[in-house]
Amino acid sequence: MSMEEKDKELSVYESMAARYDVAARKLGLDAGLSHYLRTPNRELIVHIPVAMDDGTLRVFDGYRVQHSIARGPCKGGLRYSPDVTLDEIRGLAAEMTWKCAVVNIPFGGAKGGIVCDPSKLSKGELERITRRYTAEILDYIGPERDVPAPDMNTNEQTMAWIMDTYSMHMRHTVTASVTGKPLDLGGSLGRREATGRGCMITADEALKRFRWQRESTRVIVQGFGNVGSQAARLMHESGYKIIGVADISGGVFNTSGIDIPRLLEHVEKHKTLKGFDRGESIGAQEILEQECDILLPAATESVITSKNADKVKARILVEGANSPTTPPADDILFERGVFVVPDILANAGGVTVSYFEWVQDRQGYFWSENRVNDQLQQIMVSAFDSVVAYGEKHKVNNRIAAYMLAIDRVAFCIKLRGIYA
Ligand code: NAD
Repeated sequence: MSMEEKDKELSVYESMAARYDVAARKLGLDAGLSHYLRTPNRELIVHIPVAMDDGTLRVFDGYRVQHSIARGPCKGGLRYSPDVTLDEIRGLAAEMTWKCAVVNIPFGGAKGGIVCDPSKLSKGELERITRRYTAEILDYIGPERDVPAPDMNTNEQTMAWIMDTYSMHMRHTVTASVTGKPLDLGGSLGRREATGRGCMITADEALKRFRWQRESTRVIVQGFGNVGSQAARLMHESGYKIIGVADISGGVFNTSGIDIPRLLEHVEKHKTLKGFDRGESIGAQEILEQECDILLPAATESVITSKNADKVKARILVEGANSPTTPPADDILFERGVFVVPDILANAGGVTVSYFEWVQDRQGYFWSENRVNDQLQQIMVSAFDSVVAYGEKHKVNNRIAAYMLAIDRVAFCIKLRGIYA
């Protein structure tokens, strides 16, 4: 089978499993434990009846996969998309387990999804879908069990509806039941930009290894949603030169540097990058192959494959998105000496500040933005150092090092707890 065929055939879960298998083998895990760690704890499939605005009744499919509770309650996003599959949710849930373990926060991984196209639904329909989904999975979520957060096409409003539905059933307000909530409902300062900030912190650490200065470092960002726009804004503010940005409508490229505040204004007004004329226009995929120092994919999965990995010119890849690189592409990048900051490390800033939000809700005591950012900085730097040191010690690339570190931590907890019979 050619590498391109392999790219096509690997689903999100299979990509996760391929990396897991390499890491577990290198760790010399016992076969039974390895099988257990790779398998989700629980997979929920719900069928959600919803009264539509036009008076018809429709049924939507929803999933919640809880991969591991070995280190604490499950934690993970909820996405709305017509393309959501159980397999994708299963893979992303497992990656959440490894991500939480890499940054050493006391959670296991979960992920949820509803098969729907939010662009074709009214706000009322979205609210009813969200509330009924929450009611269907109610017995399996909560601050001690599984704490949802926003992901693709869900936001603070979605979290407010989940929190309210959960609270109505509990007969009291339970703010710690979700994270990524509005500030006035127990959200945390710094949460909105946390994933982008985490990407920047890991980019800063990678830069130190190359002895580069931010001012002379050219960055390309693919995706201009929550992660991409915040990463671009923060990196621009701290001196990096952002020379390319793309969203689903296409991209803009300018070797003298893009005026990010102006671009943010444009996107705020038009909801798309399209029409921004201060640079040459370029395709959203094509932008990945342009000359730059740091490439930051922050859009969607499998954008760097065996087809284009040899064309990536960046020396550093910071994976803001989940699973932007396929396993065959990983091998090509590694051979070419690209320094990869893998997704489960680079984009872990979001779940880290979600953890801070959960802690603040449970204490009923809220932190200053400086405290949130300082603690995020400490955790991200320490995780970055641990992954790179682990990779150097075991002579593996950063991705496998991150998996090995994470799997080792989860396996250790399972061994300590033992298997309940
Ligand atoms: P979002 O929906 O806010 O933004 C996605 C952006 O990507 C949009 O600008 C969209 O136009 C663009 N896009 C989508 N498909 C594209 C394509 N094929 N080519 C170019 N651009 C494309 O989503 P987000 O919350 O920013 O998440 C982006 C990625 O980061 C996802 O993989 C998500 O799972 C991951 N992630 C998000 C968070 C978070 O805190 N939001 C945390 C960790 C990981």
